[in-house]
Amino acid sequence: MNQNVFNLLDWFIPESIRLSEHERDNVRKYRLLLGFIIFNAVIWFSASLALQILIKQPTPQEIGYEIFFMASGLLYFSFLFILRKTNSYKPIAIFCLAAIKFATLFVVFISGGITSPNIIWLITGSLIVIILLNIRFGLFNMFLDILILSIFQLINTDYVLFIPDEYFGIIRFFVLVMSIVFVTSMGIAIESTRKRTQDQLETALKELQITNQQLQLANKAAEAATKAKSEFLANMSHEIRTPLNGIIGIAGLLSGTVLDEEQQAYGQIIQSSGDALLEIINSILDFSKIEAGKLDLEAEPFDLRQTVEDSLDLVTPKATNKGLELGYSIETNIPPFFVGDAMRFRQIMLNLLGNAVKFTERGEVMVFVTGEEEGNGRFQLHISVSDTGIGIPTERINALFQSFNQVDSSTTRKFGGTGLGLAISKRLADLMDGEMWVESEEGVGSTFHFTVLLETADLGPKSEYLQDNQPDLLHKRILILDDNATSRSILNRQMTNWGMSCLEAESAEAALDLLHAGESFDVALVDEKMPDTSGTAFAQLLAQQFPNLRLPLVLLTSPGQQHYDKKHLFADFLTKPIKPMYLYEILRHVLSSKQADPNEANQQEPSTFSSIDNTVRVLLAENNRMNQQVGLSMLEKLGLQADLAVNGTEVLEALAIQSYDIILMDIQMPEMDGVEATRQIIEQFGAERPYIIALTANALDGHREAYLETGMDDYLSKPIKVELLHLALQKAVETRNALTISTL
Ligand code: ADP
Repeated sequence: MNQNVFNLLDWFIPESIRLSEHERDNVRKYRLLLGFIIFNAVIWFSASLALQILIKQPTPQEIGYEIFFMASGLLYFSFLFILRKTNSYKPIAIFCLAAIKFATLFVVFISGGITSPNIIWLITGSLIVIILLNIRFGLFNMFLDILILSIFQLINTDYVLFIPDEYFGIIRFFVLVMSIVFVTSMGIAIESTRKRTQDQLETALKELQITNQQLQLANKAAEAATKAKSEFLANMSHEIRTPLNGIIGIAGLLSGTVLDEEQQAYGQIIQSSGDALLEIINSILDFSKIEAGKLDLEAEPFDLRQTVEDSLDLVTPKATNKGLELGYSIETNIPPFFVGDAMRFRQIMLNLLGNAVKFTERGEVMVFVTGEEEGNGRFQLHISVSDTGIGIPTERINALFQSFNQVDSSTTRKFGGTGLGLAISKRLADLMDGEMWVESEEGVGSTFHFTVLLETADLGPKSEYLQDNQPDLLHKRILILDDNATSRSILNRQMTNWGMSCLEAESAEAALDLLHAGESFDVALVDEKMPDTSGTAFAQLLAQQFPNLRLPLVLLTSPGQQHYDKKHLFADFLTKPIKPMYLYEILRHVLSSKQADPNEANQQEPSTFSSIDNTVRVLLAENNRMNQQVGLSMLEKLGLQADLAVNGTEVLEALAIQSYDIILMDIQMPEMDGVEATRQIIEQFGAERPYIIALTANALDGHREAYLETGMDDYLSKPIKVELLHLALQKAVETRNALTISTL
């Protein structure tokens, strides 16, 4: 019943007002209050009417006054209600309130003025105003009542008194007592409310101050803890890394000594566990540094292609072991040098490449680098690493870049890893003004993308191989024989840029068909690892089917494979992933040899490692132990024995004892550097001097000319690639021979 009555009151709420649950609650409360008011009004109206009938028979006119008065009261409170609920009817409500108030006062006035029992309505009215609005309005309302009533009284003293004189005193007394009681209780209520509010306010203030202090303390403690954590992590990782380096180093040395098989295996476990531990420690340190905002990126010029190739080099052995095809392509519009943090860039690359190889059992892992100029010398690079691996379920993709997150917990058991790699990589990309995202289909493969915004560095002209339309290669016809479509298309694109004309074949059979159909080529790139017929088998078939064909073949192989026994079949060898720089050198070399001696092109001694005259005497000048090792073993691979000098002074001493044909001269050496040593050699030996090849870590193009100007004959940048060393040594031997012939 109550509900129905109150539902009628929905009429009071404008439709445009959409109420929240909390507001609906309030409306319910107000409805109750209104019900209470109406109830009170009826009681008071009856009481007042009964009082008047008791005192004197009221005239119909007086009863009319009463009804009018009650209706006014009801309207008055309804409008109050509306005013409280909606602010939009304010002016109308205020107007109506004023009108009703005036009417009410008028009724009070004519029914006896201050002495009228109806005065109690005014008091109730103020009380309700206090409840519905607030104390201030209530008091104001009371003040207004008294003011207006007094004005009425002043204007007309001749009001109608219908209470008999003998009751007048009692009623006045009663009204007075009621008023005093009411005002006093109001005063007490207001005062106690004020006091309680003040107390509450003070308590709240005190609590706030305490909370504030606690917060400040907590903040300080948190800052101190973060600092302590960073310091602790830095110290700890340093402390752990020092002995770990010892363990890894000694395990390495140990495996170089005479060990039986079991000991060798143990040594290897120590080394690989040590490496894994080192990687985890580095990841944790990186992550905490990034989180603490303490990772500063370097801004040094670096060679983008070199950095991408270095990253690929590191994952190549593992990819080769798994039989994966590895390839990469960097668009030609991308400048060679950028300013940025090469180490961190490589870290992102390595993580994505490492994951791609880790989560791919068969197929390929490919890297594509594209980009565009952003203006102001800035360039946006977009790198994508795609694989044909296990893929990632759609619902797990979002969580992938959060720390310590792996697609499922069995990943750790099966593949290892901390789940930090992608989180770090993404944050590094963020720091380089870029972003990282992934596209993946379960069971099909994943492509991880990232962008970075870098400034380009102008460090001289592009290397030769980065330029389009190479005069030596222009219009040469090349056959690309590879079963992997991506690799074929990368090679095709690269060589087309150089101005060559390419034809692709996906199998030995298809290639032979092309030749049978009368196609002719200047050179062919032949992949070794193909499903039906291998590259070597193709070369053999070719020799059988086309005995007179002079087509130099370059075999595309995986690193670590020996091809000494295939020298008669191939003009040269290139390891995958194919680096444009080597491809360029080898193509030029193969094509120029073919031109130089057209009758013997295929019989020509292939330019493999052993083709260098092993009687040449080589001196390696290098102070770094590791580089000495690497250099000597590469020379050994090329069939050359070399002597060692650790600085310029030792080079001069060695030359004083015996003569050398070639010196591989490191530039930065203690005591006497490479440049000074070269200067003194030229001074001492003049034209008789050895052929000098500079070795330097300054991988920037402009340095090449600088070193050549000091009198050095050639230049190799570190880390030294065996293919390039091979080419440089060949060139050295050819130059020396030419010189010897001309001086004879
Ligand atoms: P982890 O050190 O475990 O490799 P990452 O943050 O590098 O940590 O990778 C998090 C998880 O993302 C991996 O454990 C793996 O489940 C998933 N993941 C990353 N890369 C690949 C990918 N190329 N193919 C499939 N899953 C991947």
